[in-house]
Amino acid sequence: MQNKDHPQIKNQNQNQDKNQTQNQTQNQSENIKKSAGITRIKRPGLFLDRDGVIIKDVGYIKDVQQIEIYPEIIPIIKWARNHDFFVFVVTNQAGVARGYFSEEDVVKINNAIEEILDHRWGITIDKWYYCPFHPTKGIGYYKQESNLRKPRPGMLLEAAKEFTIDLEKSIMIGDKKSDIILELPGLRTFLIKQNYSLDGVDKNIVYENHQQLLHHLLKGD
Ligand SMILES: [Mg+2]
Repeated sequence: MQNKDHPQIKNQNQNQDKNQTQNQTQNQSENIKKSAGITRIKRPGLFLDRDGVIIKDVGYIKDVQQIEIYPEIIPIIKWARNHDFFVFVVTNQAGVARGYFSEEDVVKINNAIEEILDHRWGITIDKWYYCPFHPTKGIGYYKQESNLRKPRPGMLLEAAKEFTIDLEKSIMIGDKKSDIILELPGLRTFLIKQNYSLDGVDKNIVYENHQQLLHHLLKGD
């Protein structure tokens, strides 16, 4: 029955009108914002690997007692904050896939690190991202290809969905070849030499330690 006077249909029409009015109002307010120069301004992001960059990489860390923060990462994060960067952690945690620990354990460690950073140095992280999957070494659900697993860009893209990030002005700091994120050509990557082979990596992005990288960042000021 297509009768405009039918109460339900009338109601729908009213809603349509209401939606149209809402859309018009939204458009108007967007236009006003634009003409006033108020748009959501994108900010760069500092994406930090966790193990080997923020804390010592002791293998598959499960216990909060094993957390050892590199104090040298603090001035790097402060440099980023002074330059109005968001700060994120993006960490592959295939120990979950391998059955060494649970996602709850990962979150527990992340929370403990965040608490220490805040308590000791007044540093906050905007959001922590982790990938629990592994394409071949996983158990059950966790054995899968995932766009979240570095070097795939999934975790960074998730962040870009949630925050107004200028990915082209953003920085990734890691310690493994897999921290060189694919498909984000504008992203600058720096690797700190730790326990992993960086053979074949462009020497210009490799730093002996945190301090050397900090010097490089400060020089660019
Ligand atoms: Mg690492």
